[in-house]
Amino acid sequence: MLNIGCHLSCSNGYLAMGRQAAGLGANTFQFFTRNPRGGSVKPFDRADADALNAFMQEQGFAPVLAHAPYTLNAASGDARVRDFAFRTMREDLERLAHIPGAMLNFHPGSHVRQGADAGVRLIAGMLDTVYTPELPTQVLLETMAGKGSEVGGRFEELRSIMDASKAGDRLGVCLDTCHVHDGGYDIAGHLDDVLGEFDRIIGLSRLKAIHLNDSKNPIASRKDRHEKIGRGSIGLDALVRIINHPALRDLPFFLETPNELDGYAEEIALLRAAYRG
Ligand code: FE
Ligand code: FE
Ligand code: ZN
Repeated sequence: MLNIGCHLSCSNGYLAMGRQAAGLGANTFQFFTRNPRGGSVKPFDRADADALNAFMQEQGFAPVLAHAPYTLNAASGDARVRDFAFRTMREDLERLAHIPGAMLNFHPGSHVRQGADAGVRLIAGMLDTVYTPELPTQVLLETMAGKGSEVGGRFEELRSIMDASKAGDRLGVCLDTCHVHDGGYDIAGHLDDVLGEFDRIIGLSRLKAIHLNDSKNPIASRKDRHEKIGRGSIGLDALVRIINHPALRDLPFFLETPNELDGYAEEIALLRAAYRG
């Protein structure tokens, strides 16, 4: 079965997201751990998390994906920004420990003129401080489009973070189809070559989730503007090849396309119909 969901708002709590996902035909979902552009967070509701766990078990859901706020930047040169990143990631990991199987995805960060090597060291340093061995959640580094001074636009940079961190195998990767395409990897025309390169540099066993998005911009544009499935420069045929690829087809797929809920339901139905069971 295709494991697919979309990004949902967490404003009504955990169980509400589970019910909403099921109503859209999804069997997983992604959510922000807190305000994506700020950092404020509601008190943790343990009973609500337990209710979601029971609901997901009853419905046979695939593991859910939490997304850290965009403002989390451990690679910043500003000590206050780094301090926010450390505290936020630690607190989110402590909460997610109550949602078995959940994974936490984050944007590695932007080095802002310090250079990618300094960024890699700062990111690995945060992981070594806050991602302590007793925390059960798998942390994923997201592949980025490489705009500005973003770290993670090349597979080599993600590999460097993994190598520099003691977290080792506990770190995985979430591949965003819009980001890698905008970053210059030809997933539309040469999917096998891109996956071969990923395997050589990072290892396909480290790939744990896919953000399935079309792109508003041409390959290598370094832009990061998501488009609806089949309406962008990646195209429906290529996205259908991705969900059916033997190396990818069992992973959970998360839509982050510019849609309201009805649009997500349509895309989920379209992709389920195109999945070769
Ligand atoms: Fe993201
Ligand atoms: Fe993404
Ligand atoms: Zn994006």
